[in-house]
Amino acid sequence: MQDASAQMAILQFMLAGMPTTAVPSSIHCDHLIVGHKGADQDLVNSIENNKEIFNFLQSAAEKYGMSFWKPGSGIIHQIVLENYAAPGLLMLGTDSHTPNAGGLGAIAIGVGGADAVDAMANIPWELKAPEVIGIKLTGKLNGWTSPKDVILHLAGKLTVRGGTGHIIEYFGPGIDTLSCTGMGTICNMGAEVGATTSLFPFVNSMSSYLHATGRGPVAEAARQHANFLRADEGAQYDKVIELNLSDLEPHINGPFTPDLATPLSKFADVVRKNGWKDEVKVGLIGSCTNSSYEDMDRVTSLAKQAVEKGIKSKAGFFITPGSEQIRATIERDGQTGVLEQVGGVVLANACGPCIGQWTRDDLNDKEENAILTSFNRNFKNRNDGNATTMNFLTSPELVTAMSLSGKLTFNPLTDPLIDASGKEFMLQPPYGDNLPQNGFIPGNLSYTPPDISHPNSAIQINVDPKSSRLQVLEPFGPGPVGEFEDLQVMLKVKGKCTTDHISAAGPWLKYKGHLENIAHNTLNGALNADNEKVNVVQNVFTGKEGAIHEVGREYQALGKPWIVVTDHNYGEGSAREHAALQMRYLGCPLILARSFARIHQTNLKKQGVLPLTFADPADWEKMHGGDVIESTEGVADLVAGRPGKNDTPEGGEILLNVRRPDGEKYVIKALHTMSKDQVDWFRKGSALNAARS
Ligand code: SF4
Repeated sequence: MQDASAQMAILQFMLAGMPTTAVPSSIHCDHLIVGHKGADQDLVNSIENNKEIFNFLQSAAEKYGMSFWKPGSGIIHQIVLENYAAPGLLMLGTDSHTPNAGGLGAIAIGVGGADAVDAMANIPWELKAPEVIGIKLTGKLNGWTSPKDVILHLAGKLTVRGGTGHIIEYFGPGIDTLSCTGMGTICNMGAEVGATTSLFPFVNSMSSYLHATGRGPVAEAARQHANFLRADEGAQYDKVIELNLSDLEPHINGPFTPDLATPLSKFADVVRKNGWKDEVKVGLIGSCTNSSYEDMDRVTSLAKQAVEKGIKSKAGFFITPGSEQIRATIERDGQTGVLEQVGGVVLANACGPCIGQWTRDDLNDKEENAILTSFNRNFKNRNDGNATTMNFLTSPELVTAMSLSGKLTFNPLTDPLIDASGKEFMLQPPYGDNLPQNGFIPGNLSYTPPDISHPNSAIQINVDPKSSRLQVLEPFGPGPVGEFEDLQVMLKVKGKCTTDHISAAGPWLKYKGHLENIAHNTLNGALNADNEKVNVVQNVFTGKEGAIHEVGREYQALGKPWIVVTDHNYGEGSAREHAALQMRYLGCPLILARSFARIHQTNLKKQGVLPLTFADPADWEKMHGGDVIESTEGVADLVAGRPGKNDTPEGGEILLNVRRPDGEKYVIKALHTMSKDQVDWFRKGSALNAARS
């Protein structure tokens, strides 16, 4: 878990009442650290500003025996690759780029906090079986092309949705030519095409990496069982894409979407055609995608040429090492010194500008400008919160070369740079070692937690009751023993209602660990079908209009349970558990939708909310805010474990007897999809209550 998503996951895990986690778990403090002046100063400031969160996470880690990687230790996925990833491992991570570990043969899946809680609390974790896209690699990368170009090219082919519901599995002779960390880069960005995960079979470069990172026995075990760690002979894929690495060109993807892929040879034309200013304002290398020793060594081979010719980077140039181990090793081996000589600023070993934690001093407000990064995401506003910053994704090598030139149209394969004496020179293609010849050094040892962390029940978890950012959760009460009665329909939602509409991100992120405070954003993006207003609903008892969360709290104070009626695919988007938690917290025990997004539907069930769908979606038209469900028929059987009247293997039927404000009555036939386990969660109030009982 990274520090942003870990907060609510741990607060929920605390409710399970377990002395330790059911699976080995770790916490990584990386997302909350702001990049600005340089590592030392930035780290001190960020620790000060987030002290409360870090103290909480550390105390929880000590109590439950989780490994705690403190601020400055590195980025979650790089640390996982260096310490935990292994061929054949199944791992969940509360971050979309968790599949980075597929570079070391792990099946590593990015999930929401609720799924991590399942794994830690020994609750079954489920995933709809994905299909498999096979990517056959032949040939060998050469010249300016690097592993990043494999995934930049594939992102262009597959688009941001092409991998959804699929695992991407690489095979073919080309895989033997790639470094382990290069494969990590490729798997990392499988998230950009929506893939469940990406992975490579066990190959020699994984063994070398395991040895270099002090895990020889893991390499040996993998070698002995190698047959289990690669596809069977003649394995069939649902779809196959072939890619000859020898023919691959360097790519630049963006701006604003990772699948807008342009081969380098065409990029200058694209710049001119769009009338973009021919300037690279800032180049950023590093992040969890591209911060390996190999990346840093190869970019240094370019920076060295610039130093020899007496020039510096024309663009701002920032380097984010992925971990303390990488930082210390490249400092020892001289790469850092060279990068600083061309004007590079080394930021803390953390996410920083990759996640928008970047204080930029080089820009007038809202000025259109271009930045090049070796990161993985480039949605608008992501890096600096400025919608007019065009953010392009490319390899660290191209970021460096183009930063040296300062021009967005620069192509190092065809264009010269100008040296200190005004003479033209061509950059020679990058080169470097995959792994340090003298081995890695750990750097500041205080960053490394012990190999095995033991739980200590005597530890008190630090949460200040007056905090606005953290709040200990109270377990939800049990579900109904019989039928529901008098459920107030507070709101009918029209159109798209994603988890962003239900629990917005942005400025609300700082309240991720405080349910009461973050609940102020509940459904603040939802369109009320009855008044066509966003986040405005009438309190039927006072006649006054208010925000949805306000009216929800008012009903709750009156002891009136309320529900919402929603449109199709309710809860699509990221698997944000807050979207389910907040509804339950504000007193909503049932949601009636035309249809649900699958993950959100499960999240609602985990929080003890009963998700029902209209048997006839046209019935959505009949219901309105202000109606009251006087009674239900079928809930009592469900919670008692008795078969219902019209049960099917997928679920059963619940009737809703509804009264309009004018007294007219009607019946809605609704359907549930509750399994036996899920009924137990509903009966006990939540999955965590069930785990504890
Ligand atoms: Fe996410 Fe960027 Fe941090 Fe990687 S470096 S974990 S992509 S924020």
